[in-house]
This record gives sequence, C-alpha cells and structure tokens, in this order.
Amino acid sequence: MRFAPQTILPAVPAAFGWEELRADKGVSCIMRARVEVSMELTFLGATGTVTGSRFLLEVEGKRLLVDCGLYQGLKQYRLRNWEPFPVSPERIDLVFLTHAHLDHVGYLPRFCRSFSGKIHCTHATRDLAEIVLLDSAHLQEEDAYWANKKGYSKHRPALPLYTVADAEHALSLFAPFHYGEDIFLTKTLRVKFKDAGHILGSSLVDIKTTKGGRTLRVAFSGDLGRPDRPILRDPTQLYEVDYLIVESTYGNRLHDSTPPEQELARVVNESVARGGVLVIPAAAVGRTQELLYALRELEERGEIPALPVYVDSPMAIDATGVFEKRKGYYDLKAKVLELEGKRILQTKRVRFCRNRDESKSLNAVAREAIIVSASGMVTGGRILHHLEHRLPRPQDTVLFIGYQAEGTRGRTLVEGEPTVKIHGQEVPVKAHIELISGFSAHADYQETLAWLVGFNRPPLKTFIVHGEPEAAASLAEKIREKLGWDVVIPMFGETHTLE
Ligand SMILES: [Zn+2]
Repeated sequence: MRFAPQTILPAVPAAFGWEELRADKGVSCIMRARVEVSMELTFLGATGTVTGSRFLLEVEGKRLLVDCGLYQGLKQYRLRNWEPFPVSPERIDLVFLTHAHLDHVGYLPRFCRSFSGKIHCTHATRDLAEIVLLDSAHLQEEDAYWANKKGYSKHRPALPLYTVADAEHALSLFAPFHYGEDIFLTKTLRVKFKDAGHILGSSLVDIKTTKGGRTLRVAFSGDLGRPDRPILRDPTQLYEVDYLIVESTYGNRLHDSTPPEQELARVVNESVARGGVLVIPAAAVGRTQELLYALRELEERGEIPALPVYVDSPMAIDATGVFEKRKGYYDLKAKVLELEGKRILQTKRVRFCRNRDESKSLNAVAREAIIVSASGMVTGGRILHHLEHRLPRPQDTVLFIGYQAEGTRGRTLVEGEPTVKIHGQEVPVKAHIELISGFSAHADYQETLAWLVGFNRPPLKTFIVHGEPEAAASLAEKIREKLGWDVVIPMFGETHTLE
C-alpha cells in the first residue's frame, strides 16, 4: 500500500523511538572525544543548483571524487563546465559514481583527458553511462559544428566540450562492482554501493575508514529515490553514519498524493477525447521505462485504450535494452512479473523509432497516439521537433512527468508562458500542458525525512546539496525542526574536516 506522506511524521508515536532519533549532543561528544581518523570533504558542485554533482573526499592519503557531473540549466552554471577542474584530475586517485544521469556523470569525458585512475559504479550504471556519455559527446560535437557553420559562437573555431573519442576513453576506465560488494582501497578504507532506488543501478555511496579502533563513516545519498515506485527498489536504509551528504531537489515540495498512474490515465483519456496526440518529453534513461511500465499496467487493467506508443529516442531504446539485460536490479514485484513471462516494458502497440525517417513520419500522426521522446526537460533531442510541430495545435497535449530545472524550455512551458523558443523561433503554445509530479525519481521532503528517521542515530553533520537555494534551505529547516540534527548547506568550493 502507498503510505500517505503527509501523515507519516505526526503518526509516529514517541514510543516508536521518535525521540531517540533526535540529536543528543551529550552522547555524541562523549563518543567522539578521541580524534584519530579524519577526512576532508570539498564541495565542487551541486551547491545552490541541482546539477554538476562533484564532491572531493580526501582520506588516508587518497583523493576520491564522488560523481563527476555536468552543469546544466542556467548559463552561470554551464560556464563552469568550461573552467579548469578545481583540482587537477591527475591528482585524483579514483572516481565513484552514484548513477548514470548526466548531472552526475556528464563531465567525465572532459575530466578523463587528464585522469588515469579507475571509475567505479554499479554494472547497470556503467551500461547506462555508456549510452548517456556517447549521446552527450555527439551533442557536444553537433553544437560545435553548427556554431562554426552558422558563426553564432564568439569562439573561432568553436570547440566541443568533449568528443566521442573522449567519451570512449572515459568509458575504458570504468571498473564496475555489484551492490553490497566491499571495495577495499586500503586495509582500512572500504567503499560500498547500496541501492538508492532513483534509477536502475543508482547508488548510495558508503565510505568507511577505521583507525585505532575508531570508525568514521561518510555516506552520499546521490539522488534519493522514492517508496513503492515500479521496477525500482525502495532506497536502502543506512545506519551508523557519521557524516551524510543528502540531496534536496524536492526539499520544499511534496509529490501529489494522487497515484501518478491514475493521473496518467486521466491525461491519456482526455487526450483521446480531444482528438489529438499526447506528447511526453521523458528522460531516456529511467523515466521512459517507468512510463512504459505504467502504460502497460493501465492497458492491462482496461483503464486506457491500447494506443500506438511511439518511443522516439535511440537513447531510450538503448536504455530499455539495458533494463532488459539487468533484471537482477528490479524490485521483487517486477521480477515476479518477468518470471511469470510478462515483458514489463512492452505496451500492446509500442513502436521503437530508431531512425530519423521513422521519427519524421510521426508528424503525420493526427490523433489517438502517444509519442514519448527525449530530452525530458526539452533541452535537446528529437522532442524539439515534436514540440515545434505540436505546441501550436490546441487538440494536442504535452505532458511533463519529471523535474524541470531553471533555465530549461520545460520550465518555461510548465510555468505557462505563451511562447517558447525552439530552433531560434518563438513557437506559440496552444496545446494543453500537463504536469504529473508523482513520477519523479526524487524523494520529496517527507520521503527524505522518512528515510532519515530510519537512521539509528543522528549523523554528526548532515550536508544538504543538489537543490535550488529555497529547496535546500527548506529541507535543512525541516531536518532541524523534526530531528534536531546539525545541518549545513555548503557553498561552492567549501571544505569541511570530518572527524
Ligand atoms: Zn538523477
């Protein structure tokens, strides 16, 4: 059963240990009197924004980088992709990745021009990163090509941030592990990936160093998933964490309590009734597969007609292939369905459009169809062509099912602007714009608090990252208020000694 996030906190009685979870400063001080182990943590990204996740952890003489993300969205952040990396990549020993989204892995090809260590992540993250990085490199090369051809860059020649060859080199450095495997970097320094429930292969990174009988444990949430989402497991509960780095994308919001599948059925049926086409911008990795799963379930329950579903993104097709190859990463329910012989990502009339001609032919589809295309925030990809064609048509519908970052076309559209710029033209918005937040792969603040409530003691310090400023501030306040924990919102470049 879906729990009601709005009620979980007041519903937990003190006898269940609620009070014990509050920070008890006295106990912490006594336990931490002898300082023998320490780490230095530097925030190189995802501060004040949801992109560019990069954290440097120095421990036992090693420099570890957790995530190597691309900055996206606002220009002030995107420009950081072009600046020299704050620490020379040659001086970093290892990279650990929480998951394969671009804002967590997308800087790797540039970074690896001067990095020669290994990149560790789960096997599914490695498979998905291959798709994501090669696609990103193609886009970078294409952007530079058009900038040179049309002369709209002030740089002569305009160079790509990185190339396909850079991405291939970065991929050659990957050395994946399974969830739960002990990765010993020294006899006393151990790293472990645990399921974060955000996308396939996503991980919490748990890093532990031991010295003189004292253990110091740091955990990175990466992007934290949600309870009861299809295909994915719930986020793994962590315990005995000394320092926690937690994301706050939805730090000031709650997801709609209506199940997103129910909302999806409504949008599909209304789109059919209007006699138009439903276009869904969806991230190729994760969201598209979750959507296919939901559409199949709705078809099977007879809640929507079995419409043609066009998955128009080569990247989404490849990512779907990774899902089908890595079924061991599914939650129990999805594995049971597969064991029963169901293909959980196939609707009755699904069509995967790999080549450009198939994609273009979709413009001729006038009614009773669903087009799923990337990117999810309409920052690039084939979705641009579909929206250019569909937005001026009042009978069509555009449905957003993911987070829309500041500065993206997706954000412009969900904010109800009358026009949006695509391919240099202002396109009028006449189509119906819908937003379902419940498909989000990020925990909302109540779900994040629910995860924190499960810790068996407060971390010495909790760092809030990966949120726009209001979201981070709001989550920090809620954690202080509900749990009394010591919470910090770090600034870009800030270093903290953990001991
Ligand atoms: Zn993510």
